[in-house]
Amino acid sequence: MVASVNWVLFPNIAGRKIVNVVSETKYIFVTGGVASSLGKGIISASLAKLLQARGYAVTIQKLDPYINIDPGTMNPYEHGECYVTDDGAETDLDLGHYERFLNITTSQANNITTGRVYQSVINKERQGVYLGKTVQIIPHITDEIKRSVKLLGDDGSFDFVITEIGGTVGDIESLPYIEAVRQMKWNMKDSCLVIHLTLVPYLAASGELKTKPTQHSVKTFLEAGVQPDILVCRTEKPLDDDIRRKIALFCNVNKNAVIESIDAETIYEVPLLMKEEELDKVVLRKLSMPTTPEPELEKWKAFVDKLKNPKREVEIGLIGKYVELKDAYKSIAESFIHAAVSNDCSVKLVRIHSENINDDNVTELLGNLNGILVAPGFGERGVEGKIAAIKYARENGVPFLGICLGMQCAVIEYGRNVLGLEDAHTTEVDPQTKSPVIDIMEGQKKVTRKGGSMRLGAYDCELVEGSLARACYKKDKIEERHRHRFEFNNEFLADYEKAGMKASGINPDGGLVEIVEIPEHPWFVGVQFHPEYKSTVANPHPFFINFVKAAVELGETVAN
Ligand code: GLN
Repeated sequence: MVASVNWVLFPNIAGRKIVNVVSETKYIFVTGGVASSLGKGIISASLAKLLQARGYAVTIQKLDPYINIDPGTMNPYEHGECYVTDDGAETDLDLGHYERFLNITTSQANNITTGRVYQSVINKERQGVYLGKTVQIIPHITDEIKRSVKLLGDDGSFDFVITEIGGTVGDIESLPYIEAVRQMKWNMKDSCLVIHLTLVPYLAASGELKTKPTQHSVKTFLEAGVQPDILVCRTEKPLDDDIRRKIALFCNVNKNAVIESIDAETIYEVPLLMKEEELDKVVLRKLSMPTTPEPELEKWKAFVDKLKNPKREVEIGLIGKYVELKDAYKSIAESFIHAAVSNDCSVKLVRIHSENINDDNVTELLGNLNGILVAPGFGERGVEGKIAAIKYARENGVPFLGICLGMQCAVIEYGRNVLGLEDAHTTEVDPQTKSPVIDIMEGQKKVTRKGGSMRLGAYDCELVEGSLARACYKKDKIEERHRHRFEFNNEFLADYEKAGMKASGINPDGGLVEIVEIPEHPWFVGVQFHPEYKSTVANPHPFFINFVKAAVELGETVAN
């Protein structure tokens, strides 16, 4: 029950509250059934947004049922983008959605994998923590899962902890998580509920929506001892009253707890659709909490409105070696959406495979673009194509943003074509080069372990007065997130600066070059960090805003 409440909240950047609104943290689990990729992350983030917009402090966590300790060691074909938090966790890309929707920061505690759960249990076993007991899935693994969930709620900082469980109910891998949910639901009664996301397919041949997959999925859930409280049904056609009644009857939920989740034009519309369906109200009622005041969503609505009604369009090339994978550059694509809305335009991302670009076809491939972004990456594949694209952007005054490997390639290109260092390279690709303009960081030289061993997470960066970077951020000191092993080789810095490429952002602790720019160029920026991890709906990233602005201006110049 709600304590006598003081509604004044002072959430800090992590979304934590200082004044308690509810006496006891509430736990909401979001599971999936029927098929994967139904959008549990977006539903979780949308519900969180609605609760946050009512003044509650909310955080979201993802439990992933794979054995990797984190997704940092998986390639983008396996797992899409690896998202990085301020505290240096390499995480599932859903954490990016959580941060972008809620404008909060997440941390190590927000993404738990089966690998991490087992690692922790095995470490405890080796330390003798279990006092001679046989260590088993139940209770030891399930206890560890519950501990990881409650960790976020334990200090009372959050009114709601929403926990999204990866995979699909019925998977062997998900069983311990579902069992942990069953136990928590049993122990916490009114403070815990389960939302199950299913698919209601439309059969064009018979012109009908089908509820059977949802019924079966809930049955499978029941076999594991869990009765979901709310069903969110993904569908391409509206669910009419009969269908809702039928699902409610077969799945033991109230009709108003059958929530339609119809395909949306943009993910940012989903909180508004969920509000129309009253998902937040149903949740609050089930947790015996007040359903007033209504969520304050004016700014969010204005954002969605602008997003759906752009005044113009700019085309920006996204150059990378994973462009065929929708999720590989997720945060970059979302950052462009935020920045486009800030510029009253839409950004059409033209995805160009870096392996297909060379000096002969570069004009044909990139000639119509208003801006060029060269993506992060690892290894040799596609590097020469990235360098060719950067040369084109530099020589033709096309706005350019290079991120991480994209920045490193910009340094290589400038070295080769402006400084005359023909063999300029990164030692990641050519360890023998005589011009190692990008080299392994001192602290990385002895690192042999793969997982979690790069320079990860937020580091300070000081911006040089008079630079484009300083003008974009309107600050002299920033913090940005990193994920790399190589860096600009400062032995070459004086030569670069003399030749016109300036270091405009420096890490004050180690003197690492974090930003390079070319003042002679209309808009040319390379960043060693990942600005895309920090862009949110409420706070679009200054580099993306200004890059898109430069692209709009180029488009207007060409049009006139
Ligand atoms: N491969 C480069 C490095 O490790 C760049 C990494 C990246 O783009 N995230 O430094």
